This record gives sequence, structure tokens and C-alpha cells, in this order.
Amino acid sequence: MYKGSAGTASYYKQVEAQTGVIIWAPVFYMAAQNVRHYENVSCTVLWCGTAHRSIEYNRKICYNTSQQKMQEKESKMNVQKVNYQKELDRLIKQLESERRVPSLLIHSCCAPCSSYVLEYLSQYFEITVFYYNPNIYPESEYTKRILEQQKLIRDMKFKHPVSFLAGKYDKEKFYAMAEGMEELKEGGPRCMKCYELRLSEAARQAAAGEFDYFTTTLSISPMKNAQKLNEIGVRVGREYGVEYLVSDFKKKNGYKRSIELSKEYGLYRQDYCGCEFSMRERDEQRK
Ligand code: SF4
Repeated sequence: MYKGSAGTASYYKQVEAQTGVIIWAPVFYMAAQNVRHYENVSCTVLWCGTAHRSIEYNRKICYNTSQQKMQEKESKMNVQKVNYQKELDRLIKQLESERRVPSLLIHSCCAPCSSYVLEYLSQYFEITVFYYNPNIYPESEYTKRILEQQKLIRDMKFKHPVSFLAGKYDKEKFYAMAEGMEELKEGGPRCMKCYELRLSEAARQAAAGEFDYFTTTLSISPMKNAQKLNEIGVRVGREYGVEYLVSDFKKKNGYKRSIELSKEYGLYRQDYCGCEFSMRERDEQRK
């Protein structure tokens, strides 16, 4: 590895000697801002006026490591700055000031997770609960969860109407999506694809039904990545031309409230996420 104080002629002279690539004097200035760190295993980037070109020299690559690291850190910080609950609060405030009650399609994973979300959002939206969970295994569990969802909607009292829509139990679609990722742990790439499968279908339904917004109850779970869910929701919403209602329902004690409501309504609370693989993971943990 070759390090030096960037921006000095002597430094670039040393680099020339090391790599055999000639760096011209007028280039030093710009290079100083773009090249901080050389590795012997690499190549060299030359800047000349407004044009730049890279020269490969003995398969050597020149990295602008510190700059790259800084950008990565900045973008990470920007990502962490998003508080989806605050964004939702802002939108709700705006809807209230306009006295508007938009339509909302909520993808629900199960009755317990939807309980708090329904209690909360039915004050501001006209909701349709969309049950689309082809991941659930076995079929008896699927039936149990869907019946529980319907029962909850019947039993709860809402300010604005809440209706129910069942999606297809597309088991084959889920297994095709999960192929090759069966052994991955919960929270990994298979789950990101699982979120996407369900959110894409919710976005498609929301667009077909001309809903104002769509969202999912999934972010209420401490096991679910709210950041990723929101990113996926926004992306698939754009693809179908319907707005994703950003959210993080575990904020404001949402998860805690869902446990209270589950008790109040006597709901069945499952102890594994839903798919066959998460069931296996649970069994392993029990051993
Ligand atoms: S663990 Fe849960 S989120 Fe992940 S693939 Fe299985 S059902 Fe989907």
C-alpha cells in the first residue's frame, strides 16, 4: 500500500515512480481532490482539464477510498434521518386541516398486527384491509389467520368504515420467489423479497381499485425492517402509480398496544413469522 499527502507534486512524483504512469503538473491540483489513496494492486486515474480518463497499469486500480467512505457514511446518515412516523404525522395533520378522508388499502399480515393499525388509522382514512399472504404455511394456519382477521374487523368499532378484501393464496409464487434462499435466517434477503411480493400485489390492487394510498401493517413488528419496507413500498407504489403511506407502526408504542388489543379481542397470536422456513427456525430455537 502506498500513502502520501495528497495534492503535493512530490507525492505524485513518488506515485509516478511507483506505478510508471506519468502524471502531468497541471493535473496535480484536481487529482488532489479526487485521489487520496493508492494501492499497489491497482490503476491510476488521470484528470486533465474537464476531461478525465483512466489508465490501467498492470491491473492496478486507484481508489479514492476516503472520499468513498465519506459518501457512504453520509448516505447512511441520511437514511437514518428518515422518521417515517413523523412523516405520517405530518400527512395526517394536513388531511385534518383539509377535512379530507382518503381511501387506504392496508396490506395486513395478521389480525394482531392490524389491530393497532386499524384503531389508529381508521380515525383518518376509509380503510380496506387486504389479506395477501401467500407465504403462510401450512394451509390450516393460513385459514386460521384469515378468519381471525375477519373476526377482528367485525368486532372492532371504527370511526370510518373498514372493509375486507382477500387476495389469492399464491403459494407457488412464494416458493418460486424463495427458491435458493430457503436456509436464510429471518430478516435476510428472502424476507426482503417476501415484503416485495406482498407489497407489489397490494400496490397493484390499490391502483386497480383507485385507492388514494396503500400501506402495510408489517412495520409494527420489531422483527421487521421498517426502513426496507418503506423503501420497497415507495418503489412499488411508483411502479403502479399509487402513493405508499410511509409508516413505522412500532413507534408511539404501537407494538405494545397491539398486544393489549389482541388480549382485549381474544386474538390468536402466532409464534412464527409465517412461512415454512420461519417455522423451522422457531423449532430449532426451541430445541
Ligand atoms: S420469515 Fe417471514 S418475512 Fe421472511 S420469508 Fe418467511 S414469512 Fe416472509
